[in-house]
Amino acid sequence: MAWERNVVIKSQPEIEIMQAAGRINALALKAVREAIRPGVSTAVLDKIAETVIRDHEAIPAFLGYPGPTPYPGTINACLNEEMVHGLPSARTVKEGDLVSIDCGTIYQGFVADSAFSVGVGEVSKEVKQLLEVTEKSLEIGISKMLAGNRVGDVSAAIQEYVESFGYHVPREYTGHGVGRTMHEGPQVPNYGLPGRGMVLRPGLTIALEPMVLVGTPRTKVLSDQWTVVSIDGSHTAHYEHSVAVTEGKPLILTQV
Ligand code: MG
Ligand code: MG
Repeated sequence: MAWERNVVIKSQPEIEIMQAAGRINALALKAVREAIRPGVSTAVLDKIAETVIRDHEAIPAFLGYPGPTPYPGTINACLNEEMVHGLPSARTVKEGDLVSIDCGTIYQGFVADSAFSVGVGEVSKEVKQLLEVTEKSLEIGISKMLAGNRVGDVSAAIQEYVESFGYHVPREYTGHGVGRTMHEGPQVPNYGLPGRGMVLRPGLTIALEPMVLVGTPRTKVLSDQWTVVSIDGSHTAHYEHSVAVTEGKPLILTQV
């Protein structure tokens, strides 16, 4: 992957800016989470995130992002079988839906990237478990982001935990370094082998993002050219934090 040639170690002042970016991104996601209820459209959620970001003199990182067409929104808004890159629209969310929101913010030249999934109102037991397992898999992955560990240690820990529930991780979509650009090295898959891959060093900043699918690891892209769905229509969930490797414990950048 070309990304691996673009690994950038950040200085302490740069990490502090990334923390500020991450805080704004977290405030945007918090506002979106509070607005999720039956009947709200994903376009309204998108506007809420954009307003919070711009009110903090920051820029939505996803808006205009290069792709098959420039990305048209501030957030990715996915429902149920949609995993990532769902386009905000007039479509409304319903009781029982599983909603996944991903958002990026650029502040003083640095990017923050973070995502969460949540159930709307009462959700099935199956959805509830999927949400818990996906969130926990992110926590487990972060706990392995220690200086001296390797990328594969992080990847393998996520994969092992997710698969122990019979769930799947995708192969085509991965975590990634994050910094002055949204995607830099190293690539951090949600599957792998312990002891393999790049050694983690203090100053490395990674957007770790387990995506979990109930029925299959396989995905496809819809005809809008952006939305990625599970190929079997089963539910998927997605949690993400931008995290710095330090001399000590991993530092989550995208939190309030
Ligand atoms: Mg993201
Ligand atoms: Mg990301």
